Amino acid sequence: MDIRQVQFERNSVILKKYIPEVSVPIIAAWIIDYDFKLKIKKERSTKLGDYMPPHNGLNHTITINYNLNKYGFLITLIHEVAHLKTYLEYKNNVAAHGPEWKHSFKILMHPFLTTDYFPVDILWALRLHMQNPSASSCNDLKLQRAIKNYDLNNETIFVEHLPLGSKFIYNDTKVFIKKEKIRKRIKCTEVNTLKDYLFHPLTEVKAEENFLAINELNRQHNI
Ligand SMILES: [Zn+2]
Repeated sequence: MDIRQVQFERNSVILKKYIPEVSVPIIAAWIIDYDFKLKIKKERSTKLGDYMPPHNGLNHTITINYNLNKYGFLITLIHEVAHLKTYLEYKNNVAAHGPEWKHSFKILMHPFLTTDYFPVDILWALRLHMQNPSASSCNDLKLQRAIKNYDLNNETIFVEHLPLGSKFIYNDTKVFIKKEKIRKRIKCTEVNTLKDYLFHPLTEVKAEENFLAINELNRQHNI
């Protein structure tokens, strides 16, 4: 294997944790072709990511907040690579989010604007966003909401932490409603068949969207 191949494989392994898998080959190649360092950072409330041009002997650097979901991460990353591309063409002679950056962002985002990379609701909001992209996708509420809907997709929660009567997904396929506790188990009814099952309280399941607040609460407790 040549060096490029080794780097590509290494990038791919890391990227798989943060962006949709189908987008990994393109981004892994960008990291090599645009020759930048990608740093995953703790959450910063003021920004989702940033780009720094080469300085003090360091190469181009892009940082992204670690807690974005895979769609938010990918969009932010492409936003930052657009800064890099703009820097290569214009150095610091143009406004950060001016027409030159918007143009680069549109070119880079173009191949990703299909349902191969984003679910339909995000794609719809993203296409609108790309008509005239703003400094931060945070300012685009429609897009932020669409992205946020997927925040829970990677999150599991224990059945016992769900409120009574709430719906959850088990094994990525079956939907259940949580019912009462029966001795050390929790009765849950499968929505399709109306059959009852007894769950161990620490069974990991995925909560439905509307339990975001509860899930967040549990997370605070766990810290
Ligand atoms: Zn920016």
